[in-house]
Amino acid sequence: MLISERHKVSRRRHERPRGRRPSRLALFYAKILIAAGLFACIDVFFIVDISLPDIDAIKARPSASMVANGHVLRIDIETDDRVSFAALTVYHTAPVRVYPHPQANPGTSFALVGIPYETVPRLDTLAVMWAVRDLVFALELPVRIVAGPYRAETIEGVDQSRVAPSTDDLKRIADERDIIAKAYRVTRDSVMMDGPFFWPVENKVVTSPYGTRRVFNGQLRSVHGGLDLRAREGTPIFAAQSGVVRLAQNLFYAGNHVLIEHGMGVHSGYSHLSRIDVAVDQYVEKGQQVGLAGATGRVNAAHLHWTVSIHGVSVSPAQAFEMLDALFSAYPKT
Ligand SMILES: [Zn+2]
Repeated sequence: MLISERHKVSRRRHERPRGRRPSRLALFYAKILIAAGLFACIDVFFIVDISLPDIDAIKARPSASMVANGHVLRIDIETDDRVSFAALTVYHTAPVRVYPHPQANPGTSFALVGIPYETVPRLDTLAVMWAVRDLVFALELPVRIVAGPYRAETIEGVDQSRVAPSTDDLKRIADERDIIAKAYRVTRDSVMMDGPFFWPVENKVVTSPYGTRRVFNGQLRSVHGGLDLRAREGTPIFAAQSGVVRLAQNLFYAGNHVLIEHGMGVHSGYSHLSRIDVAVDQYVEKGQQVGLAGATGRVNAAHLHWTVSIHGVSVSPAQAFEMLDALFSAYPKT
């Protein structure tokens, strides 16, 4: 009773002024602190003497002080033996899981933060948070987000029904959005990546980089969420890293599509295939053929559209795999 009354009072007191919205980070902190505060009220009589792993217990280092929208930032976190990696979370636009670092000493962990493409350039804050019993600590890391080196292009000759979908197709697109979101939610904490990644097309020629702002048939604006590699119809397409197939089906925009989960929140996708050679739940080795290039879905010519996402955030495949290579080049498979 007492707690609920206090809770109401504090909610009234913190009612925000009209026209101002607290940041999502502030809301996230607030929720955790309210929950921790309530537990602390209950628990306070039982705490006798614990050595609290406060701010000195953690050292966190971003892989760069600046990061472009659509790129991946790695946060390396060193903790003393009072804090296990399992108690850590990194928070940016959403909580991001922390894993033991595959290369560094025990006590070092890492988090991969995909910066969403739509993030506007600004001085941003990431938080490394850790919980001990009922207490939550947060270490804030300033990171400057800069505009990525993205170009603009026009694409003509795309089948108009893929640019202005019919009512039936809009329904199909909505259904597929759910199917895709569900597939991305399946992630395992163990990693299946090892060694450097494998280019999915043997003759590596980039025809359109990630992040290009596009106008289709002079009317539809969108952003290119993947990397296009030149591939004639029938060219073998290979898995960039080992993993488990989570999607292997035809989609309205992506055409025949294969999505592979690599563990630790990393997925790669292969679109517009003329043929799919793998099935859902199948384990594939890095370099294994997953299908043949084609021109299915929203395209004007055969090519491979290659995507990579980190915890569901679509990022530049080339930049992401460069960072993953450095992390997992000597990591044992599980
Ligand atoms: Zn593409």
